[in-house]
Amino acid sequence: MDKQQQKQRFIALVPAAGVGSRMGSDTPKQYLPLVGGKTMIECTVEALLRVPGIERVLVAVSLDDEYIRKVLPDSASVTVFFTGGKTRGETVGNTLRAYAEAFPEQNPWVLVHDAARPLVQPGDIEALIDAAQKHENAGDAVGAVLAMPVSDTVKRADEEGMLTEDVSRDRLWRIATPQIFRLEKLLQAVPANPQATDESSAVRAAGDRVAVVSCAPANIKVTTPGDLAFARERFAPRPAVPALRVGIGYDSHRLVEGRPFILGGVEIPHMRGLDGHSDADALLHALTDAVLGAANLGNIGIFFPDNDPAYQGADSAVLLAKAWQAVREKGWGLVNADCVVVAQKPKLNPHVPAMQQRIAQVLGVPPDLISIKPKTNEKLGFEGREEGISTQVVVLLQRG
Ligand code: MG
Repeated sequence: MDKQQQKQRFIALVPAAGVGSRMGSDTPKQYLPLVGGKTMIECTVEALLRVPGIERVLVAVSLDDEYIRKVLPDSASVTVFFTGGKTRGETVGNTLRAYAEAFPEQNPWVLVHDAARPLVQPGDIEALIDAAQKHENAGDAVGAVLAMPVSDTVKRADEEGMLTEDVSRDRLWRIATPQIFRLEKLLQAVPANPQATDESSAVRAAGDRVAVVSCAPANIKVTTPGDLAFARERFAPRPAVPALRVGIGYDSHRLVEGRPFILGGVEIPHMRGLDGHSDADALLHALTDAVLGAANLGNIGIFFPDNDPAYQGADSAVLLAKAWQAVREKGWGLVNADCVVVAQKPKLNPHVPAMQQRIAQVLGVPPDLISIKPKTNEKLGFEGREEGISTQVVVLLQRG
């Protein structure tokens, strides 16, 4: 079967000739807005057209319908029929006859779907179509319906509102739509069973078997103002989650004789330097951890193992650049970095602009995104005793 034939095999029919009196609105419920000025029937038709294979939706309205042309003009995928009857069955029969006259040689699958079920999931409709085809091939059913298993306890009450009977919910289903049958089957069964409230009842009354396919419970028929609020809530655009990530980094290194003091990618004159496997730049290490953390890419020890001779005496600016490239490849850019350096000595404030410049250069960002705040720790702790220094960095990343 070629693609064109495949497409033509499924049409959807939306009977929309009712007025929906339980909604308490002057406007027929299918024309009430659901989202962004879009009406319920537009959302319903869009859901159907999202299903692969459904290329055309027939919308059946009453002869005096004043709304449909404004919201759903005829198009390549929507054909409006002014074929509404007094009952749903009459509307379905009238419309399919009109369609069959226009396309007499075809006997496509028809998915009849309520205009007031805009929350139907395209995936559920695909499952329904699959089931109908399988049952047709097996010869054990002529169509299928979407339905929801009954999960509540079910009882029958008498006219006075007194419970009289427990009804087993075992194998009970709440029947929804779409309901899928061959066009000729519907043309034969629906007019012959005018009392049927849905297509499956008419088809079963005609002596055929119909399969049931479970669907998402959200596939409700919007009937009351509460249902309408539920549907609007489901269609409401979700507030965009800001594409922001925060990261934190910490590091410390011992101060020892005979090493250069390298911090923020800058060599600073001092009697002692920071001890470590690499150049021991505690500020760049904390910054590297912060950006890796924000992008959830692990940490500096995973990226650059300190037992790897490749990083012996390594320039930490090169390590930061590599980590930053991985973060950039994940799609993140820097909003800002705020750094604290705790060191009793040397005095770092005069070197802050040089460190900002160097870090900005490594990251490829403007220097004013990098804040560095030296602290002495008031001679307290290992930093105060000049045994070592510590650093803390917070970064904010954004997409882009
Ligand atoms: Mg370190």
